[in-house]
Amino acid sequence: MAERTDRLVEAVHAAQLDAVLVTDATNVRYITGFTGSSGLALVGEDGLRRFVTDFRYLTQSAEQLAPVWERQIAQEPLEHVAEGLPEGTFRLGFDDAAISVKQHARLAELVPAGIELVPAGGMVEALRLVKDTAEIERLRAAQRLADAALEDVLSRGLAGRTERAVALDLEVTMRRLGADSVSFPPIVAAGAHGALPHAVPRDVTIEAGTLCVIDWGAQLDGYASDCTRTFATSDDIDARDREIYAVVLRAQHAALAAVAPGPTGREVDAVAREIIDAAGHAEHFGHGLGHGVGMEVHEGPRLSRQGEVALAPGHVVTVEPGVYVPGAVGVRIEDLVVVTAGGHEVLTGLTKELLAAPRFEA
Ligand code: ZN
Ligand code: ZN
Repeated sequence: MAERTDRLVEAVHAAQLDAVLVTDATNVRYITGFTGSSGLALVGEDGLRRFVTDFRYLTQSAEQLAPVWERQIAQEPLEHVAEGLPEGTFRLGFDDAAISVKQHARLAELVPAGIELVPAGGMVEALRLVKDTAEIERLRAAQRLADAALEDVLSRGLAGRTERAVALDLEVTMRRLGADSVSFPPIVAAGAHGALPHAVPRDVTIEAGTLCVIDWGAQLDGYASDCTRTFATSDDIDARDREIYAVVLRAQHAALAAVAPGPTGREVDAVAREIIDAAGHAEHFGHGLGHGVGMEVHEGPRLSRQGEVALAPGHVVTVEPGVYVPGAVGVRIEDLVVVTAGGHEVLTGLTKELLAAPRFEA
């Protein structure tokens, strides 16, 4: 944690600020270790480490924050945050992506005259891009738990129960195996419904003879996992569906092979896109190839046409090409991957062979 605050101070300095106000709960947790929902951190040069939370977190904040933090308990933390600004503070950064217009107006009233509020959103997120060893271990553990949950759910079968029942089973199983929560509500989408990339599970029975997309993740110890597999719901899958699966798998393998320090997210995205385009599915792959994963299930860097960040060791990203044929079928295959000095390491432990899931027997 001390190392993280030091790096934040460097960023504050580089942005020609005197201090930064961290307001987003995930960023506050990253910087301070505090896991509560209401807390503000003020970090700056000359050892400025100020934390304000409300009465509900009196004990918890004392336990979680290192002694270096000057703590204050207040009913409305934002009302008191500016009180601790040292003499000589002229430029105070705030998270313009996380603070409301109303809060910003109030902050402007509260800071002493002569202090300029400077938009500084993304500063902590930039530090979060590169994961340290302990963070990678947590991501690995979250993915391992999610893998185990899926295998357990799958052993009970897909065809014969509803998408909602499978999604609920997956949520309960992840919790039973120790997950704090889900990274996001699981997606279970069979047949033509699988052509909706963010399908909401329905009260509709999964039929045999089709494909079923399952996208799920576990939240464990502050870190998220994210994975998608597409299963056959019986052995008799038609040739079109097998062919689409093969194209997506080929694109996924090729893109995965390109994950290493150096290329930008856009370049890795292009590797998968080229294969899918060449197979005649250009307009059926409408989302980016992947995204960063860490404390949040969607964070930087992006693997997409907008991905300008070059991959570097410690980045953790998903590689998830998909083909969605409206009214017909959808396939997505997603792995969680760490960029290493020598290339990459896949954290997902599940096979990507097209498997036929057993039938559910009530
Ligand atoms: Zn996913
Ligand atoms: Zn994803």
